[in-house]
Amino acid sequence: MEQRFKSLSLFEFQERFSSAEDCILYLVNLKWGKGFRCKKCGHRHSCSGKAAHSRQCTSCRYVESPTAQTLFHQVKFDLLKAFYIVYFVSTNKKGITSTELSRKLNLRQKTCWSFKRKVMKAMKSSGNHPITGKAEVDETVFGGQETGVKGRKNNNKKLVVIGIEKKKKGISRMYARVIEKADAKNLGAFMEDHIAPKADVTTDKWTGYKPLKKNFENLTQIYSGKKGGNFPDLHRAIMNMKAWLRGVHHHVNDLQDYLHEYCYRFNRSFMKENIFDNLLIRMVNSSPCLIKNISD
Ligand SMILES: [Zn+2]
Repeated sequence: MEQRFKSLSLFEFQERFSSAEDCILYLVNLKWGKGFRCKKCGHRHSCSGKAAHSRQCTSCRYVESPTAQTLFHQVKFDLLKAFYIVYFVSTNKKGITSTELSRKLNLRQKTCWSFKRKVMKAMKSSGNHPITGKAEVDETVFGGQETGVKGRKNNNKKLVVIGIEKKKKGISRMYARVIEKADAKNLGAFMEDHIAPKADVTTDKWTGYKPLKKNFENLTQIYSGKKGGNFPDLHRAIMNMKAWLRGVHHHVNDLQDYLHEYCYRFNRSFMKENIFDNLLIRMVNSSPCLIKNISD
């Protein structure tokens, strides 16, 4: 994955954020920079709350902190370190493990792991930009022998459907989802979320795709060829994704969050937008999730 976007350098990051206060002010601006709106009653006017930087609705008296209703809600460690985690996760070309974060930031590994999971949640595709041009879709198995996990039982395999957008000589975007079965229902739901009905979709001859021609009128089924030879880009993308996963994560638990993370970074490697700020905006706009709620 070539890094083509202009990412924020560590130096620039440190200039912008040198204290937890800087982070709070950034969140305040993201949340209320364009005006206050009460989460409880929708009222547009507020006054300062008792706690620093909190706002109180002048109608229903509801008090909101800058982190409430965001993925920074109830973060129990230094907010500056939380921002560092968002920074490292978004700008490291291949991501970063919780062990590395723990070492860099002097936090417990478990703390880094939990917070990183929240960041990964924010990386989930909005589904607002379906593929409109050329698309290819296929399924593959993650885990089991694929990741070198040895065990008597092979219940650590997961089926994943992957869709790519092809542009010129390569892939411009990709999406991936863990599915129960490669049937028309699961494959169709994935395609409806990520591919426009009129896109030129190519799949192999698998029967699960056939009924989808109803909703995707330009769907073509071709033989996949020896070792997927008729889908070289798609198969290379799948191999790269698996290689990345082997490097950062050694089992298929929480696989979906890792797929979100991988696709998020891949899809933005071609964009000029600032990936770090984009991710922070998503963190602020996402509902809070307590760690016990984090699971597939
Ligand atoms: Zn209110």
